[in-house]
Amino acid sequence: LTNFPYDQVLVLGLAKSGTAAAVLLLQNGKQVRVNDKNANSDDADVDKLKSMGAEVITGSHPLSVLDGMEIIVKNPGIPYDTPLLHEANRRNIPIITEIELAGNLSETAMIGITGSNGKTTTTMLTAEILKASDQEARIAGNIGHVATEVAQSLNKDEKMVLELSSFQLLGVKTFKPKIAVLLNIFEAHLDYHKTFENYKNAKCHIFANQTEDDYLIYNADDPIIAEAVTPAKSVKIPFSLKKQPEIGAWADERALYFMNEKVIEKRDIVLAGDHNLENILAAICAAKLSGATNEGIHSVLTTFSGVRHRLQFVGNVRDRLVYNDSKATNMLAAQKALSSFKQPVVLIAGGLDRGNEFDDLKPYLRNVKGLVLIGETQDKLKRTALEAGVPAIKMAGNMDDAVNQAFQLSGHKDVILLSPACASWDQYRTFEERGDMFIQAVHTLL
Ligand code: ADP
Repeated sequence: LTNFPYDQVLVLGLAKSGTAAAVLLLQNGKQVRVNDKNANSDDADVDKLKSMGAEVITGSHPLSVLDGMEIIVKNPGIPYDTPLLHEANRRNIPIITEIELAGNLSETAMIGITGSNGKTTTTMLTAEILKASDQEARIAGNIGHVATEVAQSLNKDEKMVLELSSFQLLGVKTFKPKIAVLLNIFEAHLDYHKTFENYKNAKCHIFANQTEDDYLIYNADDPIIAEAVTPAKSVKIPFSLKKQPEIGAWADERALYFMNEKVIEKRDIVLAGDHNLENILAAICAAKLSGATNEGIHSVLTTFSGVRHRLQFVGNVRDRLVYNDSKATNMLAAQKALSSFKQPVVLIAGGLDRGNEFDDLKPYLRNVKGLVLIGETQDKLKRTALEAGVPAIKMAGNMDDAVNQAFQLSGHKDVILLSPACASWDQYRTFEERGDMFIQAVHTLL
């Protein structure tokens, strides 16, 4: 660890990243106290930390855990609005997240990616394009690989592509990626951040420490972002689906371009949806600035079928284009998915009833020639679809039944889309399980 002048460190919240942070700090000779509210924290982790010399306090967050501490490494999920963190502020104890430590560890140029939506897709695309361009790249951060662990094991030629949430970014002080990507900002996580302004400011931490030698890739079509990036010192690289910026990346009817050069024809891209074109443009900018080749971009975009469960192209099955968007656990995501297709769609939707109505889905059902409903919201969605004039509406008891009926309602070249607009917990353990059962049904039944 360079540039970390603290000896007494409180690690708040164990989980994967907290445990990794504590291990790293102990290895660097720091005095570490670990505090987790959960009395049943993973025993193996607790035993390991104790054997390395950590003081471990579990079961509650007594204010006394702050005594003698110089800095707190906080799990991003723990909200700031708690008595313990109010007290930490009163005592002027700085609070960081594990990402700050990762930034302290690695000399390697990092690519950091944030936004309300599209982070995972853009992170994966960027790393895949780099690899396809004969460069070494590792993904980390919010995507499920602990940033400090990846940062410690990088070799000098490897690039780190970091997916960053607003929660993680809020706890950085000096961290700066060489290349930052800001995709979009929608109202989200207001229970945590309290106001949209706070949320936006957290996202802006991604470029706050950048200098003239760094790059900031941003969505020029999003007026909030275009305004938010004005104070950045880094070289700004806009991308747009609407107009050709002076520098940066853009798309017209036929192709995608980077710095006045055509990179790929749209018809060669497997991923569906304009929102994914934004993610692709961002990934092209990040990868090109890191030395990627057009061949590398081409080979990834002609094969990359999407992150699992996110408008993932399952295949051309009996002349139907089948997409799994099980991650669409709310109406907004389903709207995005439905907007992605011009051809007729047979939609499978429904799931956990959260009490909301589905009126806002109506305008998006125009292309829907058939709707197969599953889960608790069947009746509500049926009412919405009748009002929207969907020609055929069916009910299904399980996913096999739904896929069967969707196939019967569909014709050649139609899209069959699972985009439930609801959470999965009424019938499935997770949205992943729901999506896997859809894919399985498609492969066995169709
Ligand atoms: P995240 O990691 O930010 O959650 P993902 O790449 O996993 O993002 O995509 C999650 C969902 O967000 C997608 O299924 C899609 O509905 C929506 N989405 C993805 N990219 C964008 C984008 N650029 N703009 C708006 N919505 C998007």
